[in-house]
Order: sequence, then C-alpha cells, then structure tokens
Amino acid sequence: MKDMQTIVNLAKARGFVYQWSEIYWGLANAWDYGPLGSLLKENIKNLWIREFVQKRTDMTLLDAAILMNPSVWIASGHVGGFSDPLVDDKKTKERFRADKLLENLIDEKESELGSRDAVLTRFQWLYAINNLIPESWTFEQQGAVLIGEKVKNPNNNEEADWTEVKKFNLMFRTFQGVTEDSSATIYMRPETAQGIFVNFPNIVRSSRKKVPFWVAQVGKAFRNEITPGNFIFRTREFEQMEIEFFCEPESVAPGKHLEWHAAWKDACKKFLLETLSITESNLRFRDHEKDELSFYSAATTDIEYKFPFGWGELWGIADRTDHDLKAHMGESKQDLSYFDPYTNQKYLPYVIEPSVGLTRLFLATLLDAYDEIETEEGSRIVLRFHPRVAPIKVAVFPIVKKLAEQGRAIFDLLASDFQVEYDETGAVGKRYYRADEMGIPFSIVVDDEHYNAGSVTVRHRDSGEQEVVRIDELVEWVRARVR
Ligand code: ATP
Repeated sequence: MKDMQTIVNLAKARGFVYQWSEIYWGLANAWDYGPLGSLLKENIKNLWIREFVQKRTDMTLLDAAILMNPSVWIASGHVGGFSDPLVDDKKTKERFRADKLLENLIDEKESELGSRDAVLTRFQWLYAINNLIPESWTFEQQGAVLIGEKVKNPNNNEEADWTEVKKFNLMFRTFQGVTEDSSATIYMRPETAQGIFVNFPNIVRSSRKKVPFWVAQVGKAFRNEITPGNFIFRTREFEQMEIEFFCEPESVAPGKHLEWHAAWKDACKKFLLETLSITESNLRFRDHEKDELSFYSAATTDIEYKFPFGWGELWGIADRTDHDLKAHMGESKQDLSYFDPYTNQKYLPYVIEPSVGLTRLFLATLLDAYDEIETEEGSRIVLRFHPRVAPIKVAVFPIVKKLAEQGRAIFDLLASDFQVEYDETGAVGKRYYRADEMGIPFSIVVDDEHYNAGSVTVRHRDSGEQEVVRIDELVEWVRARVR
C-alpha cells in the first residue's frame, strides 16, 4: 500500500533516504540522501536545469552564498515578518502551527456540516471571519476559533489548553567571526530567491541579457519549522529550485506580467507531466484568493500534489511585481533599475517567481513511481520512474559468474555515458526483481551465445519483455530511451 510508512521503509531499505545521525538516534525530522537518493535528486535537478536553463537563450544560472549580509533579510522582510503562528498546548507543552490546526479543523467541519459554505457561514456568524484561509486571519481570530471550536491536540486527540497565538520567526540564526553578540548575528538563508535579486545588476551587466529574461538557482534553504514532518515533505534543511523571471512592469506593458504568470503555470505543468512523467490526476492547480495574496502579489498559484496525507503544495508560482527590487533599492540605496534598450525607458522590472522544493519534488516523484504487483509468491515493489528520471539507467547481469569478464566489458562500454549497476551473483530472476525495486528501467543479461554473436538481451522493467540488442548499437539504444 502506498502509505507514508511504506515509502519511508522502502526509502531506507533501498538507500534513497536515511534518518540523519541514526547511530546517535537521529535528529528529529532530518534526513540524508543515500546512494540511490542522491542520484535521483541530481537527476531531477539536472532535468530542471536542462529544461529551464540549457534549452533557453533568455536565461542564466546562479549559485549565490547561503550566508548573506543581514541587511538582505531586513530588506526582504524576513527578519521582521517571516514567521508562522505558534500555539502551545499548556497541558503537554507541545507546540503547533495554528494555521495548520485550523486547516484540518475546516476539513473536519466540512464533512460534519456537509459543505464549505456551511463552515464559512458558521465562522462568519461566530467569529466574524470572511474566508476559509486561516493563514489570512488575525492571530486573535485564529485563537478564538481554536478555543471556540475546542480543537483537540492532534498528537493525543485530547482536549487542549491553548495559549494565545504568537508569532514565531523561522529564520535560523548563527554568528559570523569570533564574537557571539548581536552585531555578529547572521542568518542561514530561508530561500534562495534573494540571492538572485541582490545580484540583479551584476547579472544584467555581465550576461547582457535583455528583459524579459530569467535567472535560475538551485540550493539549500533553512527554516526553523514549528512542525516539520511527513517524512521529507517539510524539513528544516531542504533544497529549492527557484527562478526569477524579470519582465516589463505594469506601467510599461499593462497586463503583460499576468500573461507571463499564466505562461509559467503551463511551463511548470509541462515539466511535471512531460519531463518527470508525474501522473496528471495527482496534480491540481490552486489560484490564491484575493485575501490570501501577499499585499505586493498580483497573482499566485500553487501546484499541489496528492500526497498520502492529502494535497500539499509542491510548486508556488507568484507574480511578485517589483516588490523585491524596490525593497533592496530602498535598503541598499543603490540604483537597481533597468534601462530597456528597446523602449529607451528606465524601470524596475516585475518578477514572476516559480519556486519548487527539490526535496519535496523528490518525494512526489518517488511516490508517483511506486507500484506493487501481485505474484504467486506475494506482492513485490516496482519503482516505475521514467528512464530519464531513474537514478540508475541500466543493470548488467552476466548470466553466470564465468561470464564476468564479458559482463565487465558491457559495464565499461556503458559506464562513461550512464549510471550502471553491475551484479554477477544470485539467480537472474532475483536480480531482475532487485533492479525493479531500484527503479532500473533496463536490465541487460550477458550470455555466451548472444555475446559471441555480438549481442545481449535487454529486459524492460515495465513490460517484462525481452529484446536482443547488438552490442555495437547498445550505447545509442540506451541513449535514445533515457533522454
Ligand atoms: P508551506 O506553506 O508548505 O510552508 P511555503 O508557501 O512557505 O510552503 P515557499 O516559501 O513558497 O513555501 O517555498 C517554495 C517551495 O519550497 C514550496 O513550494 C515547497 O516545495 C518548498 N518548501 C518550502 N518549505 C519547505 C520545507 N520546510 N521543506 C521542504 N520543502 C519546502
């Protein structure tokens, strides 16, 4: 069954993801990517770079530092406002995100009262609340609903004694240099995006790109999440893949940025469906309602994935207007405006930001590939990654140990171009099953008869069919299927 625990167990057994510091009993909700996991993560990242950087003329890549001047985070609003609503259960001293407790409450109330409209009517009547987006409610309103609706502590399902809802800043702090006082305080970046904004003038100058163009970046981000969980869905250390797409502002091309926003929704969808081969019915698009939008945002859409615990955000696509460049211009007192050689105008570009968590996308890809098939000996697992996504592309199995030299020759032939698994022990059937569980799309068997005739037999993971392929065409045969 595709529940989270099965995936966590498989991820550990097959070397996708391990509990961090396990020999020291782990660190809550921190994870390491094992041999297969690191390859899978690299593949997803490289495919994203291939589609959004390599195949475009209007785009560049950046790798900014994790530790930045603290003024960056003052200008971006993170020091003052990057916080979640925190609430404690006084009985157990456990801490929760109030908005998440309230989202679950709304789902429960919907099944109890029959519709979301009925829930809204009740909340309007009792708490003067006008939408079902807890994130947008005041802290007082969030607290009033938690207490008024007698929301239980989700860990023990007992009545809770809630404190007031308070603001909790998610920034990880550390010190730079030899002193540990507030003047040396710096932050671990909570997103990669700001590294792009502060480098905007550098990129314009050095790359000679013209608006519209974009900058992409992959890297680690850190958030001191109140309730990390659901395996690698929400962790305190994670990786993001972010793009800042700089386009003409409203004053120069009215409405154009909204067209770009729509185009980005399509581009992200195409990447998920066509490049990663994610199942369409497991995805949905959710446009933010007006009172859910940040004050500076002209439009925001979340692409959500159907995780075993429910729909969860995978990719956020936000039209951030000129908010970030304007904020950095104010704080740094530097001119960040752009001179447009086509219109001879100077302006601050608007920005569309498609931001996806690499590690969250990894989880969606792994879940989506998971399949179980029933056999006479019971059920067994097959990971049906698209060949271009699979961590290992080919397995090479000499049929008997005596053919190890020939098997090695096939391995060497393929290994400069592809990630190849080599295994010469055990029954071939068992080796096939192991390869299926690792998600390897093609298994090559080397036997005397075919080898001497200049060929090998390839078994396809998904159909179980076998095909004879000439050795001198093998590299091209695999290449055509993994691109
Ligand atoms: P959430 O509402 O889930 O906390 P968010 O709206 O704060 O997410 P963004 O700031 O928009 O998220 O970050 C962009 C992307 O980064 C998200 O869509 C998600 O894929 C990923 N992401 C954010 N926080 C985490 C986390 N703690 N662990 C893993 N991935 C994350």
